[in-house]
Parts: sequence; structure tokens; C-alpha cells
Amino acid sequence: MTINSSRAAGVVLPVAIGFGIGVLLTITTSYGYSIYKQHHHDDDNGTGHGKRQKITLADNTVASSSDGRDIRIGVEGLIGRTPIMKIKSLSQATGCEILAKVEMMNPGGSAKDRIALAIVEQAEAEGLLRPNSNDIVFEGTSGSTGISLAMICRAKGYRAHIFLPDDTSTEKIELLEKLGAVVEKVPPASIVDKNQYTNAARARAEQIMSHHEDNDDDDDDKNKQAIFADQFENEANWQAHFDHTGPEIYAQLGDSLHAFVTGAGTGGTISGVSRFLKPLLPNLKVVLADPPGSGLFNKVKYGVMFDLREREGTRRRHQVDTLIEGIGINRLTNNFDVGRSLIDDAVRVTDKQSLAMARYLVERDGLFVGSSTAVNCVAAATVAKQLGPGHTILTVACDSGARHLSKFWKAVGPIGGELSHESLDQILNQRD
Ligand code: PMP
Repeated sequence: MTINSSRAAGVVLPVAIGFGIGVLLTITTSYGYSIYKQHHHDDDNGTGHGKRQKITLADNTVASSSDGRDIRIGVEGLIGRTPIMKIKSLSQATGCEILAKVEMMNPGGSAKDRIALAIVEQAEAEGLLRPNSNDIVFEGTSGSTGISLAMICRAKGYRAHIFLPDDTSTEKIELLEKLGAVVEKVPPASIVDKNQYTNAARARAEQIMSHHEDNDDDDDDKNKQAIFADQFENEANWQAHFDHTGPEIYAQLGDSLHAFVTGAGTGGTISGVSRFLKPLLPNLKVVLADPPGSGLFNKVKYGVMFDLREREGTRRRHQVDTLIEGIGINRLTNNFDVGRSLIDDAVRVTDKQSLAMARYLVERDGLFVGSSTAVNCVAAATVAKQLGPGHTILTVACDSGARHLSKFWKAVGPIGGELSHESLDQILNQRD
């Protein structure tokens, strides 16, 4: 992800002009943090709305500044700077401005491109991966992170080796294979089981690295390096959203935002965005959208994971009681924990509501979304009803319905030419 920014107002703009685009190209990952710190310093009135800071995101993917051409360099250059759309149907029905950061427009089809690139770039900076070396990136994932890693590995000359539960949808497995990833299917298991897909990925990376250290002459892997991407615990995850997603949102919306509503899988998105935005917008309400079977709702509301029969940290990560993929979890991950204190509230969303919302959005807006986005939109509309008309609420359009045809969209059922008669209020008020 290669985005720069400077504050257009006041101090930074003249400096940025003086230095020119060439200098801007060199200022990359630290920009988010510098804005964060600078605003902390400036905004002493405590409201966050007293002085509006304007952020300009410079584009360092322009190949040539002199001939005026606008060219993104490789698939990496397509990551980030996603648009924000107004969801017309939900906005009209609530009297609020309901917006979505359209992360499905990243080249790998989700926000996971951002964290996959950040994890790989961090490993490169630490000398753990060497471009075009066929070094290996291991990850355990049933979802979008594997697809993003597989794409970035191809682009940078690495191999992606993905462990996933053997009931993962066929369209995702085929996509991974067509991107050239090695795919290993393992039975769904508890996080405390050494064969659970995350643990299996970690163990295999460690095995390669120990071979590497032994430097056994007959071994194919003797010159290979390997990393375990570790999206749930790796700090590069929330940091990517702090450095990029958060600043983008602030640059796009400024002080107009009242609430940010999203689900959590690893928790990287909600933590990184909240950590960036909250100091700038202290009145911002951050709300977790949580699907059935996840313990996070009760963790946010009451400080404990939901199901007392299974101790926190030992429950299956794999959700069996919901159609929703990508969000909802029953253990406290590092990426969620670093932003947990910034989350103000949580909304529980049923599968029935998500299915109805997915239909509502495609019928009224032509917006074809995946299951986690449907959860997000139910929660965003719920928050709009709680806050009342005139508020601006941002959620995330995580991925497209195309990734969810065989499971979630199958359950939505046929979409005819006619609008279904279910109103937004009916969707929000129904229960499973
Ligand atoms: N939606 C989808 C489709 C996802 O794959 C994920 C990540 N698992 C999320 C939402 C949640 O993002 P995060 O991991 O940053 O919490």
C-alpha cells in the first residue's frame, strides 16, 4: 500500500509543495502516525470538532510526475484509496447518511489486501522475506486473507501456503489454487488443537525455518525462508488500518462522521480505524456489528465472552451456527484487544436479518455484497435508528456477494424482478 499524506491546511502544505512529489514519494508508512500525533498536539479543546484538520492523501503510485500520467504500479498500487459510497436506500429509509467504505474494490476483493501487503512488507523490512526468492508465506485462513496473500505473493515472487478448514466454500479454494497458492485442507478444530489451521500454518513455517538454520545440503528448502503471517496477532494488521484506512476516512469525511460501525474477525479493521479516528473525533461512536455465535458482543457490552460453558480462549474459532463468514470470533485476539477500549457499543445481528438485508441492498441499490457486509449494514441501520435522523454513519463494504454464492446467497434464495415488500423496519425488528 503506497499512500502518502500531508495536512493541506496550515503548516504542512507549503512544506509539501516545497519538497515536491519526489519527496512525497519517499514518505510512506509513517504518515498516519504523524497526523495522529500532530492532531493530538493541536486539538486541545477536547471536542475534536473545534479545528477541522484537512488531510491530503498524496499518490505515490504515479509513475511519472512530469508527463501527468496517472499510473498505478502493479497490483500493490491498486490497494487502498477506496471510495466511500452513500447507500441511497438505507439513507432514505433512516434520514441519516449511511455510508460504506468500499473495501471490496481492492484488487484482491477485500480490505485484507491492505494487511497482507503490510505483513509482507514488514517481513521484507526485517529481512525475513526476500523478493523473487520463492520464500514462503504460511497462513491459516478460511477467508479473504489467503486470497490477498496469494495475490501479493505472486506479485512479489513468493509462494503462499494456505491452511484452511476442509468445509471452506469451493469458490474460495478454487480461487486460491488459480492464484497459485498451495492449499492444505484440515478438519475444523479448536484453537487449542495443534492441527487447527492457524496452528498448522505456524508449525509448518517454524519447520522450514529450522531446516534453513540446519542448512541440510540435500534439502530443497535449505535456501528458503518462511514466515507465518499470523493475521490475528500480528501488529502489522491493525497498523495497516491505522496508517491507511483511518487517514483515508478522515480525508474523505473530515469531521462529519458520527458513528463507525463494523464487524470484527481479527479485529484489525475496527482497532486500527478507531485508534486513528478517535483522537481526531472524540465524539465518534464506534459500534461493533456481531453475528450469531460470536462472543465479541458480550465482551464489548459486559466484558465477558458469551458462552460460559466454554472458557474464553478455548472455544472453537470456526463458527458452525451462522451463515456469516469473516467476522465473529470466540477468543480475544491481539488485534481486537488493542482497540477494545475504544468500542462504545455492540449490535447483535441475526442471520435472518443479514439475509434480508442482502436482498434489500441488491434489489434497491444494485449492491451485491457478502455476508459480513450485510451484517454491517443491519448494524449501521440500527445505529441510525438509535441516533435519529441527520447523522452520518460509516460502515464497511468488505467483499462482494460473488465470494458467497454457494452458502450465504444460496440461503437468500431467488431474486425476482420485483422488489420484496419487506421494509427496513421489518428487517431490523425481526428475529431468527
Ligand atoms: N469481512 C470479511 C469478508 C473478512 O474476511 C474479514 C476478515 N476476516 C472481515 C470482514 C473483518 O475484518 P478484520 O479481520 O479486520 O476484523
